[in-house]
Amino acid sequence: MVEPIQNLTAYRTLERLARLSWNSTYIGDKVYEPQSIVRLSPTILRKFVCTEGCVSCCLQGPLTLDFIPEERAWHLLPLRYRIHFESRVLLVNGRARQFFSYMKPKGHCPLMSEVRNGSQGCSVWPMNPIECAASARITIQSGGLEGGVRVQKRLFGRAWRYNPPVQCEYPPIENLQDLAEELDKDIAVFHRYLDWGQYFGIHDTAIPWIIDQLEYAKVFGEFRDTTQFPKGILPNAC
Ligand code: SF4
Ligand code: SF4
Repeated sequence: MVEPIQNLTAYRTLERLARLSWNSTYIGDKVYEPQSIVRLSPTILRKFVCTEGCVSCCLQGPLTLDFIPEERAWHLLPLRYRIHFESRVLLVNGRARQFFSYMKPKGHCPLMSEVRNGSQGCSVWPMNPIECAASARITIQSGGLEGGVRVQKRLFGRAWRYNPPVQCEYPPIENLQDLAEELDKDIAVFHRYLDWGQYFGIHDTAIPWIIDQLEYAKVFGEFRDTTQFPKGILPNAC
């Protein structure tokens, strides 16, 4: 079935990929122009803590929980959940691609369990749908005064609307080992984005460069570069 794309969480995932793309990207009848520059924020070097006991973002809806067929998270999802997912389709760069999707109502998620590390939470975490794993961890924003795209670790937009209030925390990281563990979680999210890009045909993005910077920061505690331009364009040419 074909849904209005704005109703699908998968659309937000593809929008994030389009923002990181060096090419024009067509999603449904919308076109996303190629980026001129991608910036990595130092906020990526802090920790994201999903506070135990908080389920604020899991209570939002209606929204879809989405997986692509190749995703490891989909194959790890217990059959008792998978049977409730239906096939949906999105048109990206002229190709229709199918994915597995469940329209979650507001106020409840069937994948929520009574126990996660001793308190209420997601029963399939950290193999939850990609936007559940990514949205409070990584933001990818375009526009603003400086232009281009900014990749940050900060609370998602409109979180102030949520009830009960969100409890995400972003404390500083004190040592290199903790930083490496944290960045590995970010890298895992970006690898999932790469898989989505591969599946939907959004190939030429800044994601490999971002992963490279995060790998560098695991060793040296900082990024080698904080800005990336399209291939063949020198920074001083812009
Ligand atoms: S709002 Fe933040 S702290 Fe609460 S469940 Fe979602 S990610 Fe975790
Ligand atoms: S799948 Fe997990 S993380 Fe996502 S809304 Fe449901 S309980 Fe929350």
